[in-house]
Amino acid sequence: MFKDKVVLITGSSQGIGKTIALKFAAQGAKIALNDIQPQEENLKQLKEKIGGEGSEYFLADVSKYEDVEKMAEEIKNKFGQLDILINNAGICQDKTLANMTKEQWQRVIDIDLTGVFNCAKVCLPLIIQSQGKIISMSSLIGQRGNFGQTNYAAAKAGIIGFTKSLSKEVGPLGVNVNAIAPGFIETKLTEVIPEELKAMIKKFTSLRRFGKPEEVADLILFLASDKANFITGAVINIDGGMSI
Ligand code: NAP
Repeated sequence: MFKDKVVLITGSSQGIGKTIALKFAAQGAKIALNDIQPQEENLKQLKEKIGGEGSEYFLADVSKYEDVEKMAEEIKNKFGQLDILINNAGICQDKTLANMTKEQWQRVIDIDLTGVFNCAKVCLPLIIQSQGKIISMSSLIGQRGNFGQTNYAAAKAGIIGFTKSLSKEVGPLGVNVNAIAPGFIETKLTEVIPEELKAMIKKFTSLRRFGKPEEVADLILFLASDKANFITGAVINIDGGMSI
């Protein structure tokens, strides 16, 4: 489905990003993998798993504009184009506001929100050239808030406003901009949730379970495909019914 398309997936050494990369690769896309330096070994292994000339990895901290500029330049040199940007990189640093440091606030905003700005801003000329697609990972938490997550919720809510605004700017140029809002998905981000709390979360989820990275990746691939050409400015929930 994605033959001759080049996809950049930020934070793709593990978790949902890695699953997205593998699914795109299976559909014939060329993959630009990205993560921060400590994840280099994981990126290398993923590149080997994808195999052939179909992928390359680029170390860049999405919160640093110069890193992202360098990455976009390297992607252009390697693949000559960029069709799809998946803003997936994200972190949590949970604390109640009373206990949150300035640094914890800033780090989450820098990576989860400014990272999306940096990648979209720098990659936009290439995406416009290919009339491509930008998809960002928001979160159910950005829509509903959560105890101990003012920083994360603010960043993820920011992505929603960013997505809707950018979709209006670049829609006339043939570029689709969307976000998805996952509920609780089985990755290392949610592994740390105490079992008691996990049971409570499942109780408030119609499907009574956490989602799988594969299920999120399937939605991303749909939004990135030609089947979603008339969808833009949307925020699609994938949360097992938790948002109802
Ligand atoms: P994950 O397994 O922690 O993967 C995120 C990746 O991003 C990690 O490899 C992380 O590296 C990397 N990263 C961190 N800072 C970065 C930076 N500055 N530049 C580039 N990469 C960076 O998380 P996930 O659960 O797959 O989540 C993926 C996305 O979905 C995130 O945006 C998350 O907020 C969102 N999301 C997840 C859930 C969920 O339930 N899992 C729900 C809603 C939304 P390190 O591990 O070294 O930090």
